[in-house]
Amino acid sequence: MDDDDDEDYVPSEDEEDEEMTSVTREPATAYRGPVEDQKYIVFESQLMTLFQTCELCFEKTPGKVRVNGTAVYITQSCTSCGHVKQWNSQPKIGKIAAGNLLLSAAILVSGSMPTKALRMLNIMGLATIHRNTFFRHQKAHLQPAIVKLWKDEQSDIIRSLEEMTGPLVLSGDGRSDSPGHSAKFGTSNEVKSSSWCELVGLQRTKVFLDTAGLQVGTLITDRNRQVAKWVREFWIGVNHRFDIWHIAKGIAKQIDLLASRKESVDAGLWRKSIINHLYWSAASSTEEERDMILAKWQIVLFHLQNQHTDLPIPLMPSCPHDPLEEDERTKVWLEQNSASSVGLEKILHGTMISKDISLLSTDHQTSSLEAYHSLILQFLPKHTAFSYTGMHARTYLAAMHYNENSGRMQAVRKDGMLRWSVVFPKAKKGEYSLRPVKTEATYEYTAKMMEMVVCKVSGDMDVTQIVMPQSPPPLCHDATRPEMSQAVASYVSRFKNK
Ligand SMILES: [Zn+2]
Ligand SMILES: [Zn+2]
Repeated sequence: MDDDDDEDYVPSEDEEDEEMTSVTREPATAYRGPVEDQKYIVFESQLMTLFQTCELCFEKTPGKVRVNGTAVYITQSCTSCGHVKQWNSQPKIGKIAAGNLLLSAAILVSGSMPTKALRMLNIMGLATIHRNTFFRHQKAHLQPAIVKLWKDEQSDIIRSLEEMTGPLVLSGDGRSDSPGHSAKFGTSNEVKSSSWCELVGLQRTKVFLDTAGLQVGTLITDRNRQVAKWVREFWIGVNHRFDIWHIAKGIAKQIDLLASRKESVDAGLWRKSIINHLYWSAASSTEEERDMILAKWQIVLFHLQNQHTDLPIPLMPSCPHDPLEEDERTKVWLEQNSASSVGLEKILHGTMISKDISLLSTDHQTSSLEAYHSLILQFLPKHTAFSYTGMHARTYLAAMHYNENSGRMQAVRKDGMLRWSVVFPKAKKGEYSLRPVKTEATYEYTAKMMEMVVCKVSGDMDVTQIVMPQSPPPLCHDATRPEMSQAVASYVSRFKNK
């Protein structure tokens, strides 16, 4: 969305280089702390004009420069009167130059990649910290501060949930990076496979909720068999419901497969209607009339065969729509015993799917989790390897961003109309979706994080309460690392033989 406001702007001939927001103001009268204090990009040639003469005797005494990351120290020793002036471009936080620490913190908190961010500064010729300094800051100060802030936020959430009445509705989904690329730690390295990973995640969640004293009434997940079995056996009293999105995805996939066969191509024409119908079947029903979900779902097969009344479904003997108009009757209806009809019947009326559909969640869905998972990707791109604690810290940041922004309203245009955007999701194969445009995101958590880092480094934080996540062995620890000279030799000889 970075180019969103970048309209086709044609610069005028005599364009000034100044920002349009140039302001004249009094400097802050008091030091407001390292985070709030305004920083500037200062050129050395400009800076040194201030350090040419002795401030006492005005003898020519050019200053000497010492650089430490983003910080610069200037010393003027006057050979005439002996006066020594020392000037620092930055205050310190603990023993660290404030700018160096804040830069590390800002890189992490914004979800940026350190190597790229630091290269950017290098490219413009800005004195900056070394990569290793970032990693040192991250480990010693940033990660503990993030863990502390997250745990604080989590306790607040639990407290506010305790104040609500009635059992919780919990929806969850697993997310894993498949090992293979550079993902060093998939969440799956502790368990057999990614579907077991979901179960282990859920088991840990239950332990967490039990410990916190929270009672779950309804649990919404995808239809993972191990999860369903375990919930039945060990999570007594919880209503287990399935998320529509996952079931819709599975059905759409099977329809695509059916439509890829020559004799049943026209089944694909009904794909969108069938999926919409699935959503409608669940969303138009209530918990009290759960039997209706399956009944509503089953009419779709008859509908697409142009049969709308006298259906063999006791709860739903006819389609809920009005009698079809002339122009609606020209659709490509499916013949009753055609390959498409028979194939669709297997998909739509199978025993397994019928059971799952009768357990669909009627109102709460995990779709907001999808949004959360795509947000995590902004903090944890899949092509980058992160340490275990690094992954935790970035996941916590994504969670804080999500919690602060998930309730955002739809943006409104100047004329009062709601703002929408047209998107083409990959899963929809060229069909568009309308997505509401939300109001601008807020970043209160970043300000809190920066203050928390300052707090940590100045020693004002009780670090004894912070339990850092413990790293399991990395995914590739089983693979034997080759001896480097041997690996190179074999590579070279292979190359020669080509
Ligand atoms: Zn002097
Ligand atoms: Zn119908």
